[in-house]
Formats: sequence, C-alpha cells, structure tokens
Amino acid sequence: MSTPILSVEDLRVSYGRVEAVRGVSFAVEQGSLVTLVGANGAGKSSVINAVSGLLRPAGGRITFQGRDVTRTPAHKLVGRGLVQVPEGRQILATLTIEENLQMGAWHTRGTAQRSIDAVYDRFPVLAERRALPAGALSGGEQQMLAIARALVAAPAVVLMDEPSMGLAPKIVDEVFRVIEEIRASGTTVVLVEQNARRALRAADHGYVLQSGEVVHSGPAAGLLADERIVQAYLGIE
Ligand code: ATP
Repeated sequence: MSTPILSVEDLRVSYGRVEAVRGVSFAVEQGSLVTLVGANGAGKSSVINAVSGLLRPAGGRITFQGRDVTRTPAHKLVGRGLVQVPEGRQILATLTIEENLQMGAWHTRGTAQRSIDAVYDRFPVLAERRALPAGALSGGEQQMLAIARALVAAPAVVLMDEPSMGLAPKIVDEVFRVIEEIRASGTTVVLVEQNARRALRAADHGYVLQSGEVVHSGPAAGLLADERIVQAYLGIE
C-alpha cells in the first residue's frame, strides 16, 4: 500500500463513561472509496466526527496528508481539504440554495463563485432553483445540496455520514450514483452507512464495526462474498 491519504490509528472516543470507540484503526488510499459499516450504535458516527475534527478523541492518532491532525478543529481541516457531509444533512432551510452553497466556500477567499458554478454544473437541479429557500427542496434534493456544499470546498477527502438515511429507494440510487461519480473524479470518499450491502458494493475497502471496534476488514468484494459476515452483520436485503 502506498502512503494513505488518511490514516486512523487506535482511535478512542468517549462520552463521559461511555466508550463509544475502542481502538479503531483504518487507512484510506488516495482516490479510493472506503466504507465503515455496522449496526446502530456501533460507533460509526463517532469515528467520522473525530476524524473531521467535530469531536475531540480520547486517544489515538489521525494523520491526513502526512500531518498529524488528531486535535485539529473542523474549520481548519475544511481549509486543508478534509470535509464532512454531516448526518441529517444540516441544511439551513430558510437560506437559499445559493446561500447554503456559499457557506461551503467561506474559506476560499474570492474563488467561491467559481467553485459554486462548478458544483451547479454537476447538480443542474440546484442551479435551476438557486434562489429558492433550501427548505423547499425534497429530502433527496436536500441530501444533494449537503453533498454539493461539501464539494464547493474542493475537498481531497469527503467524509459522508449516512447519506442514504430516510430516503426512498429511487433517491438512494441517485445518492449512490453521485457518490460513485465523486470518487471517479478523483476525490477520496469515506462513507459511513447502515445500508451496508449497498455501501460495500460501491466501496473498494470496508471496515465492519461492532461495539466500537473493527471486527472485520478487507476488500469490499471479499466482505460481501463472506457468508458468515453477510449473515452476522449485513442482514437480509
Ligand atoms: P448510528 O447509526 O445510530 O448513528 P453509530 O454507529 O454511528 O450509530 P454512534 O452514533 O457513534 O454510532 O454511537 C456509538 C455509541 O455512543 C452508542 O452507544 C451511542 O449511544 C453513544 N453515543 C453517541 N453519541 C453520544 C453522546 N453525545 N452522548 C452519549 N453517548 C453517545
């Protein structure tokens, strides 16, 4: 393996006495799509929030592009190219679509409109409706806006927390198509999903979390082909 763009070693996250993440390690190759899967409460969001700088880890080390970023806050990481699409989208409903996108570009100093225009090329639905309040969009469109807002920052790595949550199957297909396009354009993707089968089909590499620990990992196709893993962690389709 060449030097990973992102690596996490022995990560620990605690909420008071609750140890949500208990020594998780994983590595992400530049340009790859890595997924963290596992049941509700397995610790996936805690891992991704620690990596994006939203949560302070209790222990371990996070390295991004060769630099230790274990305690670097989220706003600094965005400027360096590590950006999260948060769980639940976190769209500002009363602001327009354009204003929501501008928030993704606050750190770019002057180049914002160019990156927003590039994102509109990829999401014509958002371009057409740029002056409307974001709250007027459907759930699926709001998810696209959340992804678009992250892309405005021209990230090297996008972290996505449950982007398919609460969406109708047809919209989930669309979200996964966009995720695969992002990866095809050269951006590295770390995807947290409860929709494990779907995520593993899209991913190069997968990590299965249970009770704050990695219980299986490997090439995604290998995890999907392992009957014991499918039965124990991926559930019925
Ligand atoms: P989900 O899919 O439900 O988001 P998850 O795999 O992302 O699950 P986490 O949200 O990281 O898991 O939660 C891991 C554990 O930490 C769970 O036991 C959860 O109850 C606990 N936890 C998460 N956030 C907090 C918090 N703010 N305070 C206390 N405990 C928390």
